[in-house]
Amino acid sequence: MALISSSGFDPLENMKNKNKPSLPKPARIPKEKEEGEIVVRSEVQPEDNAEYSLRPESLATYIGQNQLKESLGIAIKAAKQRKEPVDHILFYGPPGLGKTTISMIIAREMEASIKITSAPALERPRDIAGILSSLKPFDVLFIDEIHRLNKITEEILYPAMEDFSLDITIGKGPTSRIKRLPLNKFTLIGATTKAGSLTSPLRDRFGLINRLNFYEVEELKEIIVRSAEILKLKVSQEGAIIIGERSRGTPRVANRLLKRVRDFAQVNEEKLVTAEIAIKALDLLNIDHKGLDPTDRQIINTIIDNYNGGPVGIETLAAAINEDISTIEDVYEPYLLQTGFLNRTPRGRVVTHLAYKHVGRW
Ligand code: ADP
Repeated sequence: MALISSSGFDPLENMKNKNKPSLPKPARIPKEKEEGEIVVRSEVQPEDNAEYSLRPESLATYIGQNQLKESLGIAIKAAKQRKEPVDHILFYGPPGLGKTTISMIIAREMEASIKITSAPALERPRDIAGILSSLKPFDVLFIDEIHRLNKITEEILYPAMEDFSLDITIGKGPTSRIKRLPLNKFTLIGATTKAGSLTSPLRDRFGLINRLNFYEVEELKEIIVRSAEILKLKVSQEGAIIIGERSRGTPRVANRLLKRVRDFAQVNEEKLVTAEIAIKALDLLNIDHKGLDPTDRQIINTIIDNYNGGPVGIETLAAAINEDISTIEDVYEPYLLQTGFLNRTPRGRVVTHLAYKHVGRW
């Protein structure tokens, strides 16, 4: 795992050495996304695991999000014609919808490298200064959970995003001074599940702000058929639709369910994943025909049983089901809102009659 070195970093020294020839770094791709890791190049490497190999590598193979793809395609083409990096981009939406994947594609289309990190890994000024000064022209810097950046890091990013420069303080106390160092022109891509939590000075510095939407069943089916091919698994169209229907509109969930269905088919020596096999496998995992898992149903049942259908505040609900507030907000709630099982009111969360029906309480 390539981690940003945080010890002994000297931005001045780093800038001085910028034009010196250096040994090429080995290309590395992370196995799982983790805090602080960096993808040095965006090419697929042999050591990549299946999760990585399922990622589409071009706008053409990135399924769905058509409007987004169209506007990004134009932005990339225009930037290339002007021989400039793409403007800074903010992606927001629930986890697993393809924010990292599309960012890797942008880097690839720009024939540049991508460095992937996340806000919690950028605690000290030297963390972000180290990455910024190591960026090559047109590189993409991807910061996940960008709403969690601390104030100091955010303030270092402002001149970096606007003027491609790094302001560093030299010395301490009254004799200290600020030195401005030039950076290579790069594209910052921020990803967040909570666009509303971004400060407005940061948000205003993004030239493109895009929301990623849940996927349609037909799109998920396409993703599943493509992934099955990569995994060398035979899936019927009907089988793929069943998995797509239970994937919560989310490609990451679709790929995960496909792997569990593969396990089931393998153990039962089934050569083809039919609708029947898919249903059996997913029923065994307690994932119902709408894609709700036991926690989703626990949320609905708890609001019905303990709070008479709501409204109930998120803190109270989280305590009642012994789950993290942010997990409920980021993972469970968006899909329950999307399916119309849950409503948000100023006084808290309320379940709808659809939810009552779904859990057989109507
Ligand atoms: P996010 O960054 O939004 O949490 P990722 O980009 O990590 O989501 O996507 C999760 C997984 O879903 C990826 O490994 C990729 O295989 C798959 N995926 C996401 N979007 C698409 C898409 N549009 N087409 C095909 N597969 C996708």
